[in-house]
Amino acid sequence: MIAAHEAYRIVMAQMAPLSPQRLPLEACLGLVLTESVVSPVAYPPFTSSAIDGFAVHAIDTADATAENPVILPIAFAVAAGDAADRRLAPGQACRIMTGARIPLGADACIMREDVTDGGQDVRIPEPAPAGDFVRPQGEDLAAGDTVLRPGDVLTPPRLALMAAVGRAEALVHPRPRVAILATGDELVEPGQTLQPGQLYNSNAYAMAAWITEAGGEPVRLPIVPDDREETRRLIAEACTYDAVVSSGGVSMGDHDHVGHLLAEMGTVHFTRVAQMPGKPFTFATVDGTPVFGLPGNPAATMVGLEIYLRPALLRMQGHSRVERPTIQAVLAEPIKRKNRLQFVRSRLERRHGEVHAALTGPQGSGLITAMAWANALLIIPTGSGSVAVGERVTALALEPEWLLGYDKPAWHDISGLA
Ligand code: AMP
Ligand code: MG
Repeated sequence: MIAAHEAYRIVMAQMAPLSPQRLPLEACLGLVLTESVVSPVAYPPFTSSAIDGFAVHAIDTADATAENPVILPIAFAVAAGDAADRRLAPGQACRIMTGARIPLGADACIMREDVTDGGQDVRIPEPAPAGDFVRPQGEDLAAGDTVLRPGDVLTPPRLALMAAVGRAEALVHPRPRVAILATGDELVEPGQTLQPGQLYNSNAYAMAAWITEAGGEPVRLPIVPDDREETRRLIAEACTYDAVVSSGGVSMGDHDHVGHLLAEMGTVHFTRVAQMPGKPFTFATVDGTPVFGLPGNPAATMVGLEIYLRPALLRMQGHSRVERPTIQAVLAEPIKRKNRLQFVRSRLERRHGEVHAALTGPQGSGLITAMAWANALLIIPTGSGSVAVGERVTALALEPEWLLGYDKPAWHDISGLA
C-alpha cells in the first residue's frame, strides 16, 4: 500500500501531453494551443464607421452651431461590405452605416440622431471633430503581430480572436479519448427495472461526466460481465484509446478480474492506496495506455476520478495547472483520524468572512448522496484521536467560486452604478 501523494506522483509521471493536432476552431474550446498565432491581417482590417450616420470632412463642420447649422449635400451612401473605393469631395457628406469603409477624404462621422436628415442634404448643428466615430485600421493589432502563444488556453474570446485574424483551425493538444469500463454482473442501466440483486450502473455516468468536465471525450464500452475472458477482451479494446477508466473488479473477490488481468496484460504501478475512500485502486499501463482501475463503490470511484483522473486528463491536454485550489476551512463537526488519508465529503459555507466546513452525510464508500451535496473534499491526514470542532482543515474546493464567496454582492447589486 502506498501513500496517496505518492500514488498521485506516480500517476502524473505517466502522463504526457498528446501529440498536437490541427483541429477546427469549433472543437477547440478549453484546449491548449501549441503554436504561436501571428495575424496575417490588421484588425480592424480597414478604417470604418462606428455609427449609422454621415461621414464628413471634419473641417467643414468646424463652425457649426445649433443656431447656424452647417448644411452639406449628401453625395452618396455607403453600407457595410461595400467594396468601392469612393472619395468624398470637400463640402460634401455621405450617408454611412456602421462597419462601412470610410470614403477617402472623410475623417469624421456624425450620428444620425444628432443631425437633421433632409434627404438631399444634412443639417449639422455641432462640429464633428476629426476622428470622431472612426475606427482606424489596425487600431487593435497590426499584420504580423503575435496574438496568442503556445500554452494559451483557448477560452471563448481567444477563439473569437483567432477567427478575427482569419484562422479556421488551431494546433492544439487534442482531447484524450477515454474508454469507460463499468464491471459487474449486478449492473443494469438506469431506465430499466431492477431485478433482485441488481443495482443501477451509476459509475459509468460519473466516469463520463468527469471525463467531459476535464476536457476529454468519453467512450462508453458495454458493461463488463464478471467473466475473465470477456473482461480481458474489453480491457484490450479499451486500451486502443488514449486512456482507460474502469470501476470495480480490483478488490479481493472471487470475481474481481480487472486487477489480475492488468498485471498479465501490462505493467501495474500500484494496487492499493492508503486513502479513504478508494483504497483498492490499480493503476497500470498497457502498451503505453494508462489504465485507472478504480474500485466499484460509488464514493470511492468518484474520489478516484476527482483526485487522479481529472488532473491526469488535464495534463494529457498540456495544461500546466491541473490541480484544484485548496482553502482553509473551520471544522463544524469533529472528524476521527484514521490510519489512511481521508477525503471527507463536505460543504463549505462562508459566514462572517470565515469558511466553515460541515460533512454532507455518512462517509461510507458505497454511499452516493454525501458526494452529491459536497462542494469540497476535506483532506484529513492520518493520525489518532479526532480533529476537533473549530480546528482548521485543508479543503479541496470542487467549486472554486467558494474561494471568493457568494456572500459578496453580485455586480448588479453594487451601489453607485446608475
Ligand atoms: P467491486 O469493486 O466490483 O467489488 O464493487 C464494489 C461495490 O460497488 C459493489 O457493491 C458494487 O455493486 C458497486 N458497484 C460496482 N460497479 C458499480 C457501478 N458501475 N455503479 C454503481 N455501483 C457499482
Ligand atoms: Mg464487482
